[in-house]
Parts: sequence; C-alpha cells; structure tokens
Amino acid sequence: MDKDPIKIIGIDFDEDCPKEIIEPAKMYFDLNDSFEFKFTIDSVKSKFDIKDKDIASIRKYSNLIYEIYCDRCEALKKQFASNKTEFNNIYRYSYYKPNICKECKEIEEELKQKELEKQQQKLREEQEKKKQEIVQNLNKAINEKAWRNLNPYQFEVLKNCLSFNSFNELKQYYWNKNPTPQDFKKLFSALKILASENLIIIETEFDRFRGYDIITGFKYLERLKAEFEYNYKKKDTSKVKSNPTQENQDKEIVNALKMRLTINDCSNHPDSPLYAGTIRFKEKIVIEPNIDYTFAQWKRSNDDLYFTLVPKAEIEKLPVQKTLSQEPKILQEHLTDFLNNMEIEK
Ligand SMILES: [Zn+2]
Repeated sequence: MDKDPIKIIGIDFDEDCPKEIIEPAKMYFDLNDSFEFKFTIDSVKSKFDIKDKDIASIRKYSNLIYEIYCDRCEALKKQFASNKTEFNNIYRYSYYKPNICKECKEIEEELKQKELEKQQQKLREEQEKKKQEIVQNLNKAINEKAWRNLNPYQFEVLKNCLSFNSFNELKQYYWNKNPTPQDFKKLFSALKILASENLIIIETEFDRFRGYDIITGFKYLERLKAEFEYNYKKKDTSKVKSNPTQENQDKEIVNALKMRLTINDCSNHPDSPLYAGTIRFKEKIVIEPNIDYTFAQWKRSNDDLYFTLVPKAEIEKLPVQKTLSQEPKILQEHLTDFLNNMEIEK
C-alpha cells in the first residue's frame, strides 16, 4: 500500500478537562514516526510529578484522534483512542487483519443480519413445506384407509391411540395390561409401524442416557378419528356381541356386497335359474338391519350381471328414499355419479 495507513490528527480534550493534565496528556500520546509511543507512563509521571490518578484523568478527559485506512471503503476514517492500548490494538491489528471503519462495520452487520433473516425465512419455508407434506401423507393414508394394512395388534394400538389421545395413558394402559419390557417394545414397534403407514406422527426426543431417540408422544389428524370410527364402529360392536374373546379377528369387515352373477350355462331346462354359480368372499360382509342400502345391477360381458349393494351412508348421509328416481335431483346425480364411478369387476 502506497498510502500511509494512518494519520495522526492530534489530541482532543473534553470541555471539563483539568488544565494540569493537558501537558502530561500531550507527552502521554506523543508518537514517533513509526507510530510508537515515545514515553512510558512512568516517565510522564516523573516529568510532571503526577500520580496514577492523573494518568487516569488523561484517559478520561482526552482522546488521541487519528485517521486510519479502512480496507473496506478504502478511505481514511477518523477514530478515537482514549489510551495507548486502544490505539495499539487498532493500529497493530491493521497489519495482519483488515481494518474496517465503523460505518463499514455497520453495513456489514446489516448485511449479515439480512442474510441471517433470509436463511431463517428459507428454513421456515422448508419446515412449512415439510409440514404440508406430512399433512398430505396423513390425509392420503386416511383416504386410502391405511389401517387396513395393520395386523390385529397394530390395529388395536391405533384404536387406543385415538381413544386415549395421550401417550402417557396409552403407555399406562399397556403396562397395566402386561407389565413386561417385551410388551412395551411391541407397543413401540407398533407405533413406528403406524407412523410408517402415515396414520400418526411420532414425537421423539434424544435420550442422553440411552444414547438414542425415544418416543415421547404422538399426533394425528382429527379427521382420522372420525373416519376410523365411522368405518369401525359397527364392526366393533358386532365383534363384542358375537365373540368378545376373539380379539385377533380384527380384519376389516366389509359392509358392501359386490358380486358378479354368472350366466347359468349348465342347464337348458326352462325352470333353471338364469344366473347361477358359486362365490367365495375374501372378507366378512355384514348387511345390517335398519340401514338403507343402494342396490344396482350392470350388464357385463357374456351376459353376466354385476350386482352391488352399498350402504347409502357410504355415499353420503342421506334422507330415507326408496328408488333412485324418487331421490332429490342432486342426490340422484350424486348416487348415479357414485355408481358410475364405482370400481367394479370387469
Ligand atoms: Zn470503511
């Protein structure tokens, strides 16, 4: 650097500065051409016959004013030093560390702050996106009735999660039921399965003593409880009535009948049925009394028929009606739409 990085302006005295320290202050702040202080504090003290408190007064009431080159804005900028150390620190540092003026420091600080805010905003957006993704997955799992993928034990755990809505109560319930660590382990594995099926979200916390994350709670969409209960209420009551001990028969019970009526091609007798055959259902199908069902029948290939019997409540909560044509117009469209779009066997 060609330019002198520092320029001494002089000494600035406060208005209330005691007169007797003015000369000692000049000696105290006197610098040689290499910007080193010429005199020690002791020599100032002995020259003017002053005490430590007077040196303290020099530091209090006077300042060395100088200009120092700012490596950022590349200009000489005014600075004050109330004592030798302050000056030395700034000046010596300027040899191996960029010297930055107050204004540039403020600008730098502002930029840093803006960058930080930008990062935080980005983080918030990412978190929000992640949250939306989670909610989306949770909704998808409900739409797809993901509880059907659970085994009876996991199913029971989900049911209890929804009815307790408290991790502590859930733990207590399983502990009271079977106070063994193995059973607890089974519970936690089931919770993890529920989370992997996106039915619940597991809350965890790092356990310092164990050295791994432990489950501290769970959450789920309010919607899940309603949909889950709607789908299983009937099944649960029928299960309790018919066989209360048989807890493992927790497979879903279907409440809609869908079947293909195959043409009877074995007999030519006029009294033989038109459609006949055998059928084996994969699930238990329960047709309940005092519930309205919508029935429909389609022609399929080979003159076969496809027959469906679906609870009206499946489509929507509806008023009592007898035939499709008697349903209110909107409802008719609703039902027709539902029936037309129903997934039927080809
Ligand atoms: Zn600057």
